[in-house]
Order: sequence, then C-alpha cells, then structure tokens
Amino acid sequence: MIDLEEGAALARLTTIGTGGPARAFARPETEAALEQALAWAAERGLAVATVGLGSNLLAADEGVEALVLRLGGELASVTSDCERLSAGGGATNAVCLHHARSAGLGGFEFACAIPGTAGGGVWMNAGAYGSDWTAILVRAFVVTAEGSGWLTPDELGLSYRHSNLRHGQVVARVEYRLRPRPPAEIKAEVAELIERRKATQPTNKRTFGSVFKNPEHELGAGRMLEACGLKGHRIGGAVISPMHANFIENAGEATTADALALMAEARRRAREQFGVELQHEVELLGAIELPT
Ligand SMILES: Cc1cc2nc3c(=O)[nH]c(=O)nc-3n(C[C@H](O)[C@H](O)[C@H](O)COP(=O)(O)OP(=O)(O)OC[C@H]3O[C@@H](n4cnc5c(N)ncnc54)[C@H](O)[C@@H]3O)c2cc1C
Repeated sequence: MIDLEEGAALARLTTIGTGGPARAFARPETEAALEQALAWAAERGLAVATVGLGSNLLAADEGVEALVLRLGGELASVTSDCERLSAGGGATNAVCLHHARSAGLGGFEFACAIPGTAGGGVWMNAGAYGSDWTAILVRAFVVTAEGSGWLTPDELGLSYRHSNLRHGQVVARVEYRLRPRPPAEIKAEVAELIERRKATQPTNKRTFGSVFKNPEHELGAGRMLEACGLKGHRIGGAVISPMHANFIENAGEATTADALALMAEARRRAREQFGVELQHEVELLGAIELPT
C-alpha cells in the first residue's frame, strides 16, 4: 500500500515557500505505486495534482483539496542510450544536465538555469535563451487513472509556456533527443549562461520564476513592469524584485494572497500604462485566481 501523508504543507513543496496543506500527499517511486495512488484518489473522487520542484507554482493559502504527488525513485531516474536521454518525470533538470554532460550529449544547456523537473518542463514547455522543451522532447509517458501512453509534443499541444496537460495526467517519463558534444564545451556554455542569469535575475531569492508571460509588445513583461515603477513594490511579505520586475520575492512571511495581490496590482498598472493585459505564467494550484 502506498504511503500517504495528510496535510503536508505545500509551502515546503514550492520554491516561493507559500501554500497551505494538501489534503493528501504521496511520493510514488515506481509506475505501479503511481497507478496505485491514482486509483486511491479516483475511488474517493479526489483530484490529483503533481508537483515537480514547485518552481513555477503558487498554491492556495487555504490548502488544496487534492492528492498531491511528487515523483521519486525510478520515476526520477535518468539513463541515456546513444543520443536519447530518458528521464523520470521527477528528475531535476540539474541531474539531466549532469548526466547529459557526462555522456557527451549537448542540447540541454539552455535549461541549466531552469530549476525544475522533466515533468514540470513538459507541462510548462519551459524554455530559455531561444530554446524550449519542443527542441529536445521526443515523447512523454503520461499516466492517468484511466490508462497510460506515450504522447508526442504535437499531442501534448506544446506552445509558448503552455501544454494541454491537465491535473490527473502525470508525466512519468520523458525522452529527449540530444546530440554529441564534448563535455568541456557543454561545461563552458553552462558556466557562461549561469553567469548571465546571476547578473540579471534574483537567483538567490525565494521566487517562482517569471510571474507573467512576455506579451506581444516591444517591451517584455519585466521591462514593462519596471517602467510602471513597480521594482521594490511590496504587499505584506511579497516584493516585486528590485533586480527584475517580472519576479516576486518572498521577503519574509509572504503568503500566496500577498503574491496574488501584487500580481493584480502589476496587471492593473500594465493595463493602465500600456493597454496590455498580462497573462500569468505561474501555475495556480487550489481554489485561487488572480483578482481582476
Ligand atoms: C529562479 C527561477 C528561474 C526560472 N527560470 C525559468 C526559465 O528561464 N524558463 C522557464 O521556462 N521557467 C523558468 N522558471 C520556472 C520553472 O522553473 C519552470 O516552469 C519549470 O519547468 C517548472 O518545473 P517544476 O518541476 O518546478 O514544476 P512545478 O512548478 O512543480 O509545476 C508546474 C506545473 O507542472 C505540473 N507538473 C509538474 N510536474 C509534473 C509531472 N511530473 N506530471 C504532470 N504535471 C506536472 C504542475 O502540476 C504544475 O501545473 C524559473 C523558476 C525559478 C524559481
């Protein structure tokens, strides 16, 4: 029988460090355990949400009425064969990159500063430096209470920071197609990209990455919010990063409500000053929405 924890704090599972309790929490380590957990939730009519590193997640302060899963063990393992890298949905990008470099496989360098997992990367179609998951993903093995199967990027509906995946569909494994590259070259490129990151983004603060998607406008979301004078703007314990205005930092005792209030204010200001309706990139978990 799978181990279930009641009332696990989502604040421990998100990089911003906010969020109330999950109705139930489990860490399946095999496909069989994952199927068992999904069946347990289905029998009770309980929703299922999978979290990776929680690096693009804002969870309700009141908690989430769902079985929350975090994949481990086999479901976070990484192997490679020729130019294919196979990663469990819970494998972190850092571990995938390390494995790829050791195997002399390039193409994953763009993800070096994205602190998520393979499953979160598919869900978000995460990307940076002109590349994203569509550039490397061959297929993803998706498990649900009704059955499982491999889906291609087209079937997953990947577009800019978007997929068609819905809660209850668990990305248990992915296959990436990479290409031979000397490890020293990979190492040098990664070092350079990480230095660039540190110079422009608050990588040492508790955040959930980009708050808003970049709009179709000459200014990106960060520059737009900076022009609205929002850098350093604070509500409760949440602050718009003084370094990059498209990040919200947890400056102490921030709550999800604080972050949502800041997001609503940022959206209002962008609408007033630029006539642009910003769309949030961060995923909202639980009974919360962005106030209008
Ligand atoms: C400092 C910082 C920098 C960042 N930089 C970037 C960047 O450059 N580019 C970028 O795109 N993003 C960036 N992000 C955001 C984030 O890291 C990415 O979106 C990442 O892909 C999210 O992965 P995760 O595993 O943390 O997913 P989570 O945040 O845990 O979850 C995100 C969504 O994916 C779903 N999910 C997660 N795992 C699974 C799974 N196995 N099966 C099904 N659904 C799943 C969740 O339910 C949720 O809806 C950054 C975040 C931080 C904190």
